[in-house]
Amino acid sequence: MQTFVFRCPSTGYNVQGSFEESNSPLPTYVGQHCLACRRLHIVDPRNGRLLAERQPTTVPLPRHTEELR
Ligand SMILES: [Zn+2]
Repeated sequence: MQTFVFRCPSTGYNVQGSFEESNSPLPTYVGQHCLACRRLHIVDPRNGRLLAERQPTTVPLPRHTEELR
């Protein structure tokens, strides 16, 4: 078991995470149950970064302009 620290995006706390060691290189992302906000975060254990910290963006749909005659 290896431990690492990541920053909870909801609370801003530093939270300790852990993952099982294996023979393969470090997993790219591991799911962590956050002790601060009790949600699941997907974290890169190598640098403590979260997979998706950006807000879900609303992509504006291309509008049909029907004003052309
Ligand atoms: Zn959290």
